[in-house]
Amino acid sequence: MSSRDFELKKGVDNMYSCCAEHVELAIDQIVDEYEVAPVVEMISEENQLSTTCSFCENEAIYIVNK
Ligand SMILES: [Zn+2]
Repeated sequence: MSSRDFELKKGVDNMYSCCAEHVELAIDQIVDEYEVAPVVEMISEENQLSTTCSFCENEAIYIVNK
């Protein structure tokens, strides 16, 4: 599975959706859990509206992926 095939879903264990405030936290989580450098991608504008940060109630603008 390519890293581009991810789905925008909360609770998937090897990725986090996050707002600008929590992107660093998400990166730290991935590094702690998997000891790999995560891939950070921006969520497209139409998906931002329906995606919430894994750490707070804000709209997510990044996906941090293992
Ligand atoms: Zn957040």
